Amino acid sequence: MIITDTHTHLYSEQFDEDRNEMMQRAIDVGVSRFFIPAIDSTYLDAMLDLEKSFPKNTFLMMGLHPTHVKENVEEELAFVKEWLDKRNFYAVGEIGIDLYWDKTFLKEQQYAFKQQIEWAKEKNLPIIIHCRDAFDEIFEVLQEVKDDNLFGIFHCFTGNLEQAKQAISYNMKLGIGGVVTFKNGKIDQFLNEIPIEHIVLETDAPYLAPTPFRGKRNESSYIIKVLDKLVDIYGLTPQEIAAITTQNSKDVFGI
Ligand SMILES: [Zn+2]
Repeated sequence: MIITDTHTHLYSEQFDEDRNEMMQRAIDVGVSRFFIPAIDSTYLDAMLDLEKSFPKNTFLMMGLHPTHVKENVEEELAFVKEWLDKRNFYAVGEIGIDLYWDKTFLKEQQYAFKQQIEWAKEKNLPIIIHCRDAFDEIFEVLQEVKDDNLFGIFHCFTGNLEQAKQAISYNMKLGIGGVVTFKNGKIDQFLNEIPIEHIVLETDAPYLAPTPFRGKRNESSYIIKVLDKLVDIYGLTPQEIAAITTQNSKDVFGI
């Protein structure tokens, strides 16, 4: 069984004490492909170190996270562009709009989102979207930029059925993680109406640990809890869920 964690921050300082053991726990349960979203320039060294330690398993992205868009947005974007031109990355992400924490930089967030989508298109890369309290704002941008070159993943999808269909209409897969296991997570109520061809698995580790680890540090091995939930929802075997969602991830990332 090959399971793909399409969104995991394995370079986080929260894993500094036991990163090798944590990675081994994931590999032991079949999680062998890890896609690593960027946050901002300050994390790049840790990402490159991670890649050096696990070159066969980790696939890096480049991008500026919306909660890290502030006064220095131009410098951070220049950094993203410089690195996108310098070496290979597997996606532009995570990018998007987050109005949950702070609305101060909404204009800058919209600008950074659009700019990075342009670069993704130029390089024929998928985008990985972070959306929090911002479906309208995100869809407004996607509507503007949609074309055959636009594709990617709506990471940590937590919307309703209508929003799920809308995301898919822009060539996005839905990244499903720990929230699907939450009692009040809501997406488990309608996910069976979304064909599994549109679904990829993720943890967003160290955040959003699935039940029964909710509130604790998340890690990629816990993706099994997400997979088990999809077994219930879709009535498929774990092997089938793993195979289909891994294939979906290959369709997005090209590897
Ligand atoms: Zn993330």
